[in-house]
Amino acid sequence: MMHDTIAAISTAVGEGGIAIIRISGPQAISGIDAIFHSKISLNEADTHTVHYGHIIDPSTKEKVEEVLITLMRGPRSFTAEDVVEINAHGGVIAVKKVLDIVLQQDDIRTAEPGEFTKRAFLNGRIDLMQAEAVIDLIRSKSDRAFSIAKKQSDGILSKRIKALRQTVIELLAHIEVNIDYPEHDVEAMTSTYIREQCQLAIDEIDKLLKTANEGKILREGIMTAIVGRPNVGKSSLMNVLTQENKAIVTDIPGTTRDVIEQFVTLNGIPLRLLDTAGIRETNDVVEKIGVERSRDALEEADLILFVLNYNEVLEADDRLLLEQLKNRSVIVIVNKMDLPGQLDLDEVKTYVPDEAIVQMSVLQESGLDSLEATISEMFFDGQLEANDLTYVSNVRHISLLKRAKQSMLDAIDATYVGIPIDVIQIDARLAWESLGEILGDEAGDSLIDQIFSQFCLGK
Ligand code: GDP
Repeated sequence: MMHDTIAAISTAVGEGGIAIIRISGPQAISGIDAIFHSKISLNEADTHTVHYGHIIDPSTKEKVEEVLITLMRGPRSFTAEDVVEINAHGGVIAVKKVLDIVLQQDDIRTAEPGEFTKRAFLNGRIDLMQAEAVIDLIRSKSDRAFSIAKKQSDGILSKRIKALRQTVIELLAHIEVNIDYPEHDVEAMTSTYIREQCQLAIDEIDKLLKTANEGKILREGIMTAIVGRPNVGKSSLMNVLTQENKAIVTDIPGTTRDVIEQFVTLNGIPLRLLDTAGIRETNDVVEKIGVERSRDALEEADLILFVLNYNEVLEADDRLLLEQLKNRSVIVIVNKMDLPGQLDLDEVKTYVPDEAIVQMSVLQESGLDSLEATISEMFFDGQLEANDLTYVSNVRHISLLKRAKQSMLDAIDATYVGIPIDVIQIDARLAWESLGEILGDEAGDSLIDQIFSQFCLGK
C-alpha cells in the first residue's frame, strides 16, 4: 500500500456536463471530509454510498461547489485503497478550484498520469495486461475496438496467457524432475514430451498472434483509399459513408491539406478513409505535389476501393490501374447499377476474383451491405461477428509472444541435436518469463513505470 494520497480530475478536460475528481489513498476520506459540508461525516459513512453536499474553501469558509461524493473504502475500490470521487457540475473553473482545495489538504498530491491504474496493479487488483487494456479503452476509436479492450480489461486474454504459461510450467517441472533424478533414464520419452509440450504452446501463441493483426485493424481502422476515374461516384460514396457514420475528420500527420482522413465505421468495421480525389495526371505544379501525396497514401492503403461506372465501358486507364492493383487488397465497386449496363463485367472479373466485385448504386444507397460483408470477409476471414473477441493488440505483448515462441522453437531444436536437458530448461524458463512479462509478473520497475506513464492524468 502507498503512504500518500493522490488526486486528479478523472474525466476528459473540456465542456462535459459533470466532472469527477478522484482521490485515492489513506487520507482520501478524512482529507475530503475536512472540506465537505454535509449532513453526514464521510469518516463515519458506510462504504459504497453517495452523499450530497458542498465543498468549502477552508480559508474563506465559502461554498465553492455543489457536489455528490461517492465513497469506496478499500480494498473494494478501483485502486484497492480508500477512494473518494467528487462529482462536480459547475464547469471547468469550479472544478479546478475544487481540485486546488483538495490538493491543499495534508498528504494529498497530484496524481501522475496513469497512477490510479498503477496503484490498482501494484495492489494486485488487476494484472498488467488488464492495466494496458485500460489504456486501449481510453484510446479506442470504434465500438468494436472498445469492446475488445473491455474484454481484455476483464481479463479474458490474461486467462489465455495464464493457461499458456501453465503449459510451460508443466514442461519446466517435468525437466526439473529429470535433472533431479537422472538415474531414471527417460531421455527418449522426455524429448518427445518436450516437443509435444512446446508445440502445444507454439500453436496457442500462433493463434494469439493471428488475432494481433485483426486487433490492430480494429483499433486503428482499415486504411482505405477510394480510387477511380472522374465522375464514377467516388465523392458520392465517400459522402454516403461519412454522412451516415458521423465521420471524424483528421489530417494525416506530415501532409498538409492534400490528403484528408476520415474515420468511419461501416457496421462495426472501422475504416480510415483516405480522400485521394487528387489522383490523376496533371501539369499544374502545385496540384502535382498533391497528387504525389495521394499516390503515397495509395501505396500505404490496406484496402483499395476501385470504383467503376456500370454505365460506361472499361477504358485504358481502368485497365492500367487494375493491372497495378493486382497484388493488393482491392474491391472493385461497380457503381451506378441503377443505370443501363455498358460495362463488361466478365472482363472486370479477369482482373479480380468474383467475390471482390461489389455492385452498388450509391445514388440509391444500395449495395452497402455487400460492401461491408466483402470487407469483413477480406480482413477477418468472415468471422468478425464471432463473440470470442480476445485480440492481442499491444505491441509489447506481440513482441513478448514472439520471444516466447522463439524460445519454444529453440527448445524443440535442442532436443534434436542432443543438447543437455538443463540447457533446454533455460529455453523453457525464458518462454515462461516472456509470458510472465505480459502479465507483469516478471516486469521490472522501469517497465512498469514506462507502461503507466502512457495513461492520461486521472485514470
Ligand atoms: P467522382 O468524380 O468519382 O467523385 O464522382 P461523383 O461522386 O462526383 O459523382 C459523379 C456524378 O455521378 C454525380 O452527378 C453523382 O450524383 C452521380 N452518381 C454517383 N453515384 C451514382 C449512382 O449510383 N447512380 C447514378 N445514376 N448516379 C450516380
